[in-house]
Amino acid sequence: MSALTLTLLGAFTITLDGEPVTRLESDKVRALLVRLALEPDRAFRREALAALLWPDAAPSNAAQSLRQALYSLRRAIGDAFLLVTSQTVQFRATADVTIDVLTWQRLWDETLHHRHRRRETCRHCLARLAEAVTLYRGDLLAGFALKDCPEFDDWAAVERERLHIQALDALTWLANAAERRSDYATAQTWAQHSLALYESLQDQDGMTDALLLLSQAAQEGGDLPAARRYLEQAAAHIRATENGFRAARVWYRQACILLAEGETAEAQALLEQTLRHPACEQAIRERAASTLRSQ
Ligand SMILES: [Zn+2]
Repeated sequence: MSALTLTLLGAFTITLDGEPVTRLESDKVRALLVRLALEPDRAFRREALAALLWPDAAPSNAAQSLRQALYSLRRAIGDAFLLVTSQTVQFRATADVTIDVLTWQRLWDETLHHRHRRRETCRHCLARLAEAVTLYRGDLLAGFALKDCPEFDDWAAVERERLHIQALDALTWLANAAERRSDYATAQTWAQHSLALYESLQDQDGMTDALLLLSQAAQEGGDLPAARRYLEQAAAHIRATENGFRAARVWYRQACILLAEGETAEAQALLEQTLRHPACEQAIRERAASTLRSQ
């Protein structure tokens, strides 16, 4: 049997036995394959698929278009992956099928159901997540949309958002775990990935958190100019959102850099400012107080 590979995270590619499948005639045929393949072994009613992909057509015309699309799909990838009856259409996820989204989901689900003591430090789950995030080359079906099929586009948008949030959660988990074991080079790598994802979402708070982590990792790695640069970017996001507890985090990090540069008086003033901030978190408060005491 042939081996079919669908890559849906980032650039959309389909290969059969390692060769790109170029014979899918239209985006509708691609969309049909994606919709079926992301719920393998579910029998979709023909009418439902026809209405999903040809919502403005009369039912008989939509049914005819679906027949043509299925013909085109079978010609491109063969019969082995589809189970077609007069009523239903179903994708068969055999051992020869690889779909990045389904692999991602399997790895993610393993971390949800794993019986660990602490999620943050579980080696089994961290290994699964590190494998999963290499699959996340971009958002689901990035740049792919069917302008005349709002129901399909809405479904894709919901799936895209769900996977995006999972990817951010995974990257944050990995970065924090690396930070906890003082592996700052690895923490920096994961934080860079998550910064890029937060930027694509225009999530100011997420960007601030990633930049704070990058700043700390850069300082621990001895790169003070980079640490300062990341922090200036974080401070710009804080100004944009007037975010309370993150402002205290930024001040604390700024104080750490000033101390490393020998600017003790300025650092102390910032640490005191951090401690006075009403929204400062307990963990930062304790670190700031302990840093002040050690001066
Ligand atoms: Zn675990």
